[in-house]
Amino acid sequence: MIAYLEHFVHENDSETTLHQQVSMDLEGTIDYTSTAYAGKDFGGLHASTPFAVVTPSGTHDISRVIRFASQSPNLTVAARGNGHSINGQAMANKGFVIDMKRPSDAVIDVIHCDVGYAVDVGGGALWEDVLKRCVSKFSLSPRSWTDYLGLTVGGTLSNAGVSGQTFRYGPQTSNVTELEVVTGNGDTVICSHAQNSELFFSVLGGLGQFGIITRARIWVQPAPDMVRWIRVVYSEFDEFTRDAESLITRAESESFDYVEGFVFVNSEDPVNGWPSVLLDPDQILEPGLMTRSVNRVLYCLEVALHYSKGNCSSTVDTRVEKLLGRLTFMKDTLFQVDLSYVDFLLRVKEAEKQAKANGIWDAPHPWLNLFVSKASIADFDHFVFKKILKDGIGGPMLVYPILRSKWDEGTSVVLPDGDIFYIVALLRFTNPYQKSPSVRDLVAQNHEILQVCARNGLDFKLYLPHYNTEEGWKQHFGDRWSRFVEMKSRYDPMAILAPGQKIFTRHQ
Ligand code: FAD
Repeated sequence: MIAYLEHFVHENDSETTLHQQVSMDLEGTIDYTSTAYAGKDFGGLHASTPFAVVTPSGTHDISRVIRFASQSPNLTVAARGNGHSINGQAMANKGFVIDMKRPSDAVIDVIHCDVGYAVDVGGGALWEDVLKRCVSKFSLSPRSWTDYLGLTVGGTLSNAGVSGQTFRYGPQTSNVTELEVVTGNGDTVICSHAQNSELFFSVLGGLGQFGIITRARIWVQPAPDMVRWIRVVYSEFDEFTRDAESLITRAESESFDYVEGFVFVNSEDPVNGWPSVLLDPDQILEPGLMTRSVNRVLYCLEVALHYSKGNCSSTVDTRVEKLLGRLTFMKDTLFQVDLSYVDFLLRVKEAEKQAKANGIWDAPHPWLNLFVSKASIADFDHFVFKKILKDGIGGPMLVYPILRSKWDEGTSVVLPDGDIFYIVALLRFTNPYQKSPSVRDLVAQNHEILQVCARNGLDFKLYLPHYNTEEGWKQHFGDRWSRFVEMKSRYDPMAILAPGQKIFTRHQ
C-alpha cells in the first residue's frame, strides 16, 4: 500500500506550518485519526498526540518511516510495545508512533546452537505469547522473565526485564544472543556479542535510543512442568535480607528457582496487609498472626521450586522442607500452592482481570522503581518502608536481591555499586471509586522518597528511569554518559528515536 502524507504538521501551535507531500511505500498501514491510544500509557500521568500511528508489515516499513522522518525538520519516531510505561516513554508528540505489538511474531524459529537452544521472536511479541508458544509447541521456555507478561520483547529489552529468576540467569537483557535492529539512520542491522557488538550492547537497556528491535534471539531451556509457589513471613528486615541473600548465593541445587520478596503492613487491610500474603482464596490466616510482631511493617519472602509431573508429592515436600529448614521466618507463616509452570508465570494475569473489573487497572499508576545497593538497603527500609510507606501504597512493595555478576556490564543499564543490589518496586494502584490521596500527592511522595535517599547518601539508581532535564540524565548515567551520547550520535545522530524518554532533543 502506498500511504500519502498530505498533512499539516503544526509546530508549537504557531502559524508556521510545514506542508508535507511525500509518499512512503508502506506495506502496512498508517492512521492519522484513531491515534488516541498511542498518546496514553499504563502510568496514566502523561498524554500527547502523535502525528500518525504506523502499523508496519515488516522491518522495511520501520526503516521507511525513520528515513521519512529524517527528511523533515522535526518529526520523531517512537516504537510502542504494549504502552506499559509509566512516564510517556513510548510516546511521540506530533511524531510517528510505530505500533510494534504483533501476537503472530511470538516464536518465529527455534535454533539449535553449540550450547543449547534459542528462539527467534519478534520485537513486538508479547512475552505471554512467547511463553505459550514455546511451551506448547517445543516444551521449551525462556529462562528469565518479568512478573507480568503482557509486555513486549522489545519493550523489556530496552530496559532490562527482571523478576525472581534474575538472580540465577540475569535480567532478560543477559539472555539474548542476537538482535535485528533498525537504527535511527534507517539501517537494518544484525548484531550480537561478536557482530556489531557496540550496537548490540547499546540497544540492550538502551531505552529505545539507538534502534528499534525487530527480532531477538533468546536463550531457552526445557520447560519445567510444575511449580511449588511458597511465601513465608519475617518480622525483622535483617533476617529477611540475610535469608534472601543466602538463597541467591547458594549453588543451584541448594536453592529455589525463583526468589522475590515484598513488604506489607501488619494489619487486616485486604490490599496492604496480611491478606496480600495468601496465595489462594481457600487459604486462611491463623487468628493472632497480627499480634505476633509489634512491627508496623513485615516482610514476605516469596520463592518457587520447579519440579516435573513424575515427582511424587512427598519428594517435593522433602526438598522444600530441606530448603526452608535453613531459613528463619516466623513460625506458622508458611503458605504454599502447586500449579503448572505456565500458570505460575501467568500469575499476574489473574490480578489484571480483577483490577480491570474494579477499575484500578485503567486508573493512573504513579510507580517508582529503583535499584538500591546492598549497602544502602537497610537505610532504605528505615527511612522509606518503616516511615514514609508504613501504611502501604495500595499495591505491592517489592524488594528482593539480585546478583550483579549475572548482568552484562556492557549494556546501557546502569546499576548501583556492589556484588548484590536490590530491586525496589513501588507499584501504586489508585482507586477512582474510593477516597484516596490524589495522584499529584503520590507523585510528590515519590519525589520525597528520592530526596530522602539522596539526602542520606543512599546508593541507588532508578530502574525504568525518568528525568525531565539533561542534568538528571547525566547524573543517572554518571561516567557512562559520554559513551551513551557517543553511541547516540553514531546510531541516531538526528535524535529521531524514542523522544518520550526526554533524553535528547531532535536535531534539525
Ligand atoms: P512500551 O511502554 O511500549 O515502551 C517502553 C520503551 O521502549 C519506549 O521508550 C519505547 O519507545 C521502547 N520500545 C518499545 N518497543 C521497542 C522496540 N521493539 N525496540 C526498541 N525500543 C522499543 N519490568 C520488569 O523488569 N519486571 C517486571 O516484573 C515488570 N512488571 C511490570 C508489570 C506491569 C503491570 C507493568 C505495567 C510494567 C512492568 N514492568 C516490569 C515494566 C516494563 O518492563 C516496562 O515498562 C516495559 O518497557 C514495558 O514494555 P512495553 O512493551 O509496554 O513497552
